[in-house]
Amino acid sequence: MTDALFRNFIDGRFDEPSASFDSVDPSTGAPWAKMPAASEADVDRAVEAAHRALRSGPWRTMTATARGKLLVKLGDLVAANAGRLAELETRDTGKIIRETRAQIAYVGDYYRYYGGLADKHEGAHVPIDKADLDVTIRREPIGVVAAVVPWNSQLFLSAVKLGPALAAGCTVVLKASEDGPAPLLAFAELVHEAGFPAGTVNILTGFGQECGRRLTSHPLVSRVAFTGGPSTARAIVRNTAENLAHTTLELGGKSPVVVFADADLDSAANAVVAGIFAATGQSCVAGSRLLIERSVRQEFLGRLKRKAEAIRIGDPQDPATEMGPLATQRQRDWIEKVVAESLAAGGTLVTGGARPEIGAGFYYAPTIIDAGNASLPCVREELFGPVLSVLAFDTEAEALALANDTPFGLASGVFTSNLGKAHRMARDIHAGVVWVNTYRAVSPLVPFGGYGLSGLGREGGLDAIRDYTRSKSVWIKTSDEPIPDPFVMR
Ligand code: NAD
Repeated sequence: MTDALFRNFIDGRFDEPSASFDSVDPSTGAPWAKMPAASEADVDRAVEAAHRALRSGPWRTMTATARGKLLVKLGDLVAANAGRLAELETRDTGKIIRETRAQIAYVGDYYRYYGGLADKHEGAHVPIDKADLDVTIRREPIGVVAAVVPWNSQLFLSAVKLGPALAAGCTVVLKASEDGPAPLLAFAELVHEAGFPAGTVNILTGFGQECGRRLTSHPLVSRVAFTGGPSTARAIVRNTAENLAHTTLELGGKSPVVVFADADLDSAANAVVAGIFAATGQSCVAGSRLLIERSVRQEFLGRLKRKAEAIRIGDPQDPATEMGPLATQRQRDWIEKVVAESLAAGGTLVTGGARPEIGAGFYYAPTIIDAGNASLPCVREELFGPVLSVLAFDTEAEALALANDTPFGLASGVFTSNLGKAHRMARDIHAGVVWVNTYRAVSPLVPFGGYGLSGLGREGGLDAIRDYTRSKSVWIKTSDEPIPDPFVMR
């Protein structure tokens, strides 16, 4: 039964949707809410409102300090409403309540961080090589931003776009994924409550082919910030051939976790389990490829198997649950296909590989496959699910070669007690993030992004604001001498 109706937020108002679709609760497989399906006309209205707010509304003349205060207020509202937003995210995506509560409470810090930075990014004065001229470089907001996010961690993935974009003075149209959009549509109420001028932030949802395509190719959009999968990223790049928007892409991963025999194996095992089974493996930084030194392979796999089999799977709203369902049926179908192909190609199942007996939800057991061969689909493909593939190595050079044997390069982990080895691996791994003796730590203060098929550009940290600005060079003649007539020879 659908018992809730969500609305798009366009030009400071909550719209009565002209079309809608059912959103499914992944823990039951049943529809629970109606979501608005934004049409191309809705997208046009949102982009036009954002453009008006950028060019002529109160936002344009607001000081950076005042913008920062609004962002800080928004961060406080997110933190104060974390419980309610977490329940919605858990309901709509199946992500467990423990994780959604902790993550959303931290999302508030992202808005506060960028709020604090809003009046601290400066232009420049150039010591110009010409007499009687003064040159300054202004950093101006780049324009209307189209932010497009996937269904997992939508509030978090939006904050790393909205925070720097608004701090820079841009206006935004944010598209929630058609899977699990409830928390972002509810977040729009907090944007409204914080007091952002109408049109500054517009939040809508709809399908990729219609709403997403129109938004990212819209002629009034100057900047696209996308998070999602690599094949959608290619479609986005094709869309931006229309408007030539500056584009950043945060994509998927097949992140290696390298465990050397000299590591604290207990600690490493906990990190590996958290790295792949947290969020049911539906995390862009999931440590989905374990590379284990052969001398400790058996012992380490034994530890992992015990830990994986002890994970409490069930109702994501129950605070005692440690792993919930996958977000969509489509996702589980894909995982089942890749696991079957990998086993048929010679992989050995250590544990899992099946649906646990828990109602009609999209559950899948924590799964470990001893791959033995780097060409298996479970080693190559991003599954976005609770499936760990395992390969063994004998030398540091072999570990490095295996770690880099992927077209992705988002995150990585290295577990060792040898400081020199840790530094060498951190230097040589091709990935935007290397965690040493830890995994999955993130912060608004630190840039995040990938190499290769994992993306283009960085989010987070100081530089993110700059990425939402463009420079304007202002040349001023300082002498009182008139400009001579260019056609009179002296
Ligand atoms: P997806 O690429 O299918 O969808 C992402 C968004 O793009 C959705 O809002 C969708 O509606 C939209 N979209 C789809 N087609 C479009 C089109 N033609 N034009 C414009 N927009 C379009 O991703 P998903 O399956 O929802 O999410 C999983 C993927 O996201 C995984 O690959 C995961 O690794 C990645 N991800 C990356 C990060 C990161 O920070 N690097 C974080 C989370 C998830």
